[in-house]
Amino acid sequence: MVGRERMLDKMEKFDSEKVINEFEELTKNAGKVQQDTLKKILEENADAEYLQKLGLNGRTDPESYKQCVPIVSHKDLEPYIERIMDGDSSPILTGKPIPNITLSSGTTHGKPKYLPFSEELFESTMQIYETSFAYRNSPNEVIFGSDFHQSLYCHLLCGLLHYEEVQFIFSTFAHSVVQAFQTFELVWEDLCSDIRHGILNERITDQSIRAAISKILKPNPELADMIYNKCSGLSRWYGLIPELFPNAKYVYGILTGSMEPYLKQLRRYAGWLPLVCHDYGASEGWVAANVNPRSPPESATFAVMPHIGYFEFIPLKDRHGGSEPQPVGLTDVKVGEEYEIIVTNLAGLYRYRLGDTVRVMGFYNSTPELKFVCRQNLLLTVNIDKNTEKDLQLAVEEASKLLVSEKVDLMDFSSHVDRTKDPGHYVIFWELTGDADEAVLKECCNCLDRSFLDAGYMSARKVGMIGPLELRILRKGTFHKIMLHYLSMGAAVSQFKTPRCLGSNNKPILQILSTNVVRSYVSTAY
Ligand code: AMP
Repeated sequence: MVGRERMLDKMEKFDSEKVINEFEELTKNAGKVQQDTLKKILEENADAEYLQKLGLNGRTDPESYKQCVPIVSHKDLEPYIERIMDGDSSPILTGKPIPNITLSSGTTHGKPKYLPFSEELFESTMQIYETSFAYRNSPNEVIFGSDFHQSLYCHLLCGLLHYEEVQFIFSTFAHSVVQAFQTFELVWEDLCSDIRHGILNERITDQSIRAAISKILKPNPELADMIYNKCSGLSRWYGLIPELFPNAKYVYGILTGSMEPYLKQLRRYAGWLPLVCHDYGASEGWVAANVNPRSPPESATFAVMPHIGYFEFIPLKDRHGGSEPQPVGLTDVKVGEEYEIIVTNLAGLYRYRLGDTVRVMGFYNSTPELKFVCRQNLLLTVNIDKNTEKDLQLAVEEASKLLVSEKVDLMDFSSHVDRTKDPGHYVIFWELTGDADEAVLKECCNCLDRSFLDAGYMSARKVGMIGPLELRILRKGTFHKIMLHYLSMGAAVSQFKTPRCLGSNNKPILQILSTNVVRSYVSTAY
């Protein structure tokens, strides 16, 4: 997302006390800071065509802003973003031309979204990294590579060669950390052999990577023996990370929301090391920093940074009434309530629906601390039922407990509503780490069906308005194929999130899933 050199340069000059003091001041005056931030955004972009036609006429107060500027989603902005991408350098969304366009992962809506990315967003990215970094207070190191498989192998190899220097394990999304150590399980003997003989495995064909590694890889049989013995002594790879990297202090990444299903696998690798949650944001821009790094992922909260954007919150509890509820300002949110976030930022997004549901857990000074609940548009629904990504996750968690006796883990999952037959029904796809007994999987299928506790689902199932749930078991490696598909569409591996609910328009992914089903079960729970 951001230039590595500039980031490292900033980190070198980093003063954690100063950053914490600044954050304290900002959050004590969150309401005022929000007004100033809105004023700054509107003044800097006063010439933008998008704002000009909305009739603000120089006004920058929140009330006028609410009156004149509509709440929008990405599709409303597409015509403007397309013009920017076609080279139109007139002030369209922002006063100054937008220098870059970034690509979201595309795993939320099935296709990547193009979004404006400006110098100011780079700065806010740095600010949020610095803020949560100041509270964690540890050094930072990131390695980028071109070919994903080759660079992952070499990343693991370099980690082992410098095992004493590894201070923490990081990837933006937890999924990538799990994936890295799943790969380790497959290639560890090759890695040991490379270290023993000082010769890089032939799977690495990229000459620039080979040249770089050859400078640091020398025969080291003692290290190879040590790694070999440690790995051979582990039971189901529990504690692999601290065994390999005894000086690592924590494992760090986005571990909340759609990453929660990976926590079990991550904890197995992390053993006794704490898991620390990364900040909350999106390709559209950052929102909130994790300033309580000791909280486990299940109770992680994020303090909104009041100066990196102007934030509004639509109360969700009022949504069920007739009229659309009015958004409230940052400091007017209520503890315990759930909201949808609306973002205004310096990169040309005005009152933009981020599409996430958050719950306010408390306040850090006067800025709210949010818990990420779920992405909104991910609904499994046949008719009167409504299940979010979180509901799906809870049902899957419940059913996968039955796998414990089988000593297999759920690697990943997804879902789909099948309407090809009437009535429609839910289909859940599971990829497992090994084989499980037929009877156990049949019971998992029934348990899934029973674990969607939404009243609409249960009543519709009872009267046959929704058909029996189907559990389809996938061949090993299927979700890896899905990730490769997204990468081929231009998504970055570090951004990848498994799509959890697939619409029938997501044909390429449904095709990958359906051609890799090895067994399927139909529920008899109702
Ligand atoms: P992307 O569209 O690829 O930029 O991904 C952004 C989305 O990732 C956000 O809208 C959230 O749904 C999710 N996300 C980002 N940060 C977090 C977090 N800390 N916890 C949970 N979900 C997150």
